[in-house]
Amino acid sequence: MQTSSFISSSMPLSITNRSGSLNEMEFVNLFTQKPKYDCLLFDLDDTLYPLSSGLAEACRQNFKDYMEEMLCIDPRKSDNLCTLLYKNYGTTLAGLKAIGYDFDYDELHSFVHGRLPYVNLKPDPVLRKMLMSLPYRKLIFTNADKVHALKTLNILGLEDCFEGIICFETLNPIHRSSVSVDEDDIEFLGLTRTTKPTSSNSASSSQIFDIIDHLAQTNPSGILPKSPIVCKPSENAIQLALKIANLDPHRTLFFEDSVRNIQAGKRVGLDTVLIGTSQKVQGADYALESIHNLPEAIPDLWEADLKSEVVYTGKLAVETTVTA
Ligand SMILES: [Mg+2]
Repeated sequence: MQTSSFISSSMPLSITNRSGSLNEMEFVNLFTQKPKYDCLLFDLDDTLYPLSSGLAEACRQNFKDYMEEMLCIDPRKSDNLCTLLYKNYGTTLAGLKAIGYDFDYDELHSFVHGRLPYVNLKPDPVLRKMLMSLPYRKLIFTNADKVHALKTLNILGLEDCFEGIICFETLNPIHRSSVSVDEDDIEFLGLTRTTKPTSSNSASSSQIFDIIDHLAQTNPSGILPKSPIVCKPSENAIQLALKIANLDPHRTLFFEDSVRNIQAGKRVGLDTVLIGTSQKVQGADYALESIHNLPEAIPDLWEADLKSEVVYTGKLAVETTVTA
């Protein structure tokens, strides 16, 4: 008989502690099991609140209005252009930049998000309680700008549920004019104003790549112009976000309403939860109608907390006799 603080699963053990006997194999498993995830990574829009809020629809309309009013794009083409840019570049903003439009990012974000029907969003204390009870690092990862992300989280009452926000400014820091020395905890980057104002928002038609015409060709030749903007669903954008937040993709659970973002996340090694539908798609490990369904869909997320408590209790066994 010997007293030892080292427990190897190869040793047949008989263990007792102050609270009584524990099944030996169960104890060993609990002692050695690590929670499956280190971090929960959440998209914001249409993931932490429902699509039915109407913000996404309003956002698209506002983008079209911006394109017509500020970039002088033909209203007969703006809808199609919006769709093609979103589809090919991840965001309309990234696409507009790629095809040659020059505009101020803050101005566009302010125009598009500043007139969203935020009144449709309501505080969500149930979601808040759920998030607070999850024993992991929790981060926001959104293509939107910092102002929109903070405003939305504040309205939902979730502003203190997350360690940080990875947003437009975080992934595109080159567009910041200076670096703040007064960064608060909620963000990694992107705390200062972004781009310098440009002299003109519009560009002459000769400078603009006609993506509508290009893609209308039977066999489009050549590749599309690249965008300087980093955003989902680019795998590079997801990998950059993981690097910034120091996350292991294989120990991170990613929540998204966008199928293409889910699939990009899966390609870089994330476990994925598609939000907004219960129909699983390729690349989604789980599919939930609502983020509120999480406790029923993945109860193991909370069991990790229970197990870590049992592991703590197990430490008491170090003070007791281990018979090997
Ligand atoms: Mg979304």
